[in-house]
Order: sequence, then structure tokens, then C-alpha cells
Amino acid sequence: MKRKIIPAIALFLLGFSSMLFAQNYPFSLPKLPYAYNAMEPVIDAATMEIHYSKHHAAYVKNLNIALRGSKFETFSLDELMMNASEMSEGIRNNAGGHFNHTMFWNILSLSSPFTTQSEVGKAVVKTFGSLDSLKSVLNKAGATRFGSGWAWLYVTPDSKLAVCSSPNQDNPIMDVSPVRGIPVLCIDVWEHAYYLKYQNKRGDYLTAILNAINWETVNKNYTEALASPLLKRMGRH
Ligand code: MN
Repeated sequence: MKRKIIPAIALFLLGFSSMLFAQNYPFSLPKLPYAYNAMEPVIDAATMEIHYSKHHAAYVKNLNIALRGSKFETFSLDELMMNASEMSEGIRNNAGGHFNHTMFWNILSLSSPFTTQSEVGKAVVKTFGSLDSLKSVLNKAGATRFGSGWAWLYVTPDSKLAVCSSPNQDNPIMDVSPVRGIPVLCIDVWEHAYYLKYQNKRGDYLTAILNAINWETVNKNYTEALASPLLKRMGRH
């Protein structure tokens, strides 16, 4: 009983992203917060199962292998990413893979609509004009990312919302990223995220998934990002 209650309390006090940032070796695959078919028809159950139980699991396993016995074994996940330029490719790619996928599972929902009353809702309207404009900017960021990568909505070091994309498993937390910030929403645009259902039509996948965002979680990520001590260390870019 105790073992179940303590993480629940910690999660409530720290919030989901803080808990994720603070994780360290040995890393473990977090439970998927819903059933494999929960995002149908946007994400089919087969894609969800392979993506989570094979791809994400492999990032976690390979991150542990890359860290074992290295001088970075005691680093928390945020410190691994903040110092990505000093890491081997194995650590950089798999730390990013673990962080990015964990955030991705948590920002999806078919029943958590956008509202202009939320903190992130107000910031979206102020920065992009409307949710539709944000969707269009995110869609373009994901569609124009050559090869594999991610599209991001993130908080900049001067506390503004911005959109970018990244290659491979990089993200804006990493010191190797040309733009820096704390992500609040991410979209996987690797072919493994959509190919079974959408084949080569990445734009169709992006349009569908941008209507399946858990805006309550994104709002929580946003308020936590604004308070993150990491932002101050990133400087202005
Ligand atoms: Mn993926």
C-alpha cells in the first residue's frame, strides 16, 4: 500500500514533468497511461503497441546499457539532456528517446479539449492568435522536418511560447539544440509513429493527432515549465 501511495503524493507535489526530469539510472519503462486502442482512430492499437512496447522500451534498455559504468551514471535525466554535447551518441539518443516518448504518451487524449481560459490557452492566443494558427505552425514544423524527428511547442528562456522541430531524438532541453527551452507538447514524426495507418501521408497524421491533444496536461506542463530552474540556465538564444 505504502509503495503505491508515496509516488502518487510525490507526483501530486512535483508534477509529472518534474518527476520525469528527476529520474536517473537505472531507468524503467513507465506504464502507458491508457490502453493501446485508447487513441483510435487517430492512432491505431497496433502502432501504439509496437511504438510503446518495442520502440520506447528499446530506448530505455539502451539508455541503461549506455550509462552502465560511465561517469554519467548518477546524472538525472534533465542533466543528461542539459549536457548532451558531452554525451556519447548512445546516451544522447536514448535519453532523448526516453524523455520524448514519455512526454508524448502523456500529452495525448481524445477528451481533454483546448480552452482559452487555461494559462496555456491564454498564451497560445497571445502568441499565435488562435489554436488553429498554432496547429498550422506545428503541422508545418512536423511536415517539413526532413527524415526522423519531432515537432515541439516549448517555453523559451524568456518565458514565451514557441514552436520548433528537432532531428532524431533531440529536444530543446539539450545543449546541442539550436533553440533552447522546456517542451510542453511534442509530436513524434518518425515513420514508426504513423506508417501502419497513414503510410507516407505525414500531413494527414499531423492533422489528426493535433486534434487529440491532452490540453489539461499541456497546461500543467506549461505552468511547470515557466517555473523550471532549467530555463535560467539556458540563456537567451
Ligand atoms: Mn517514436
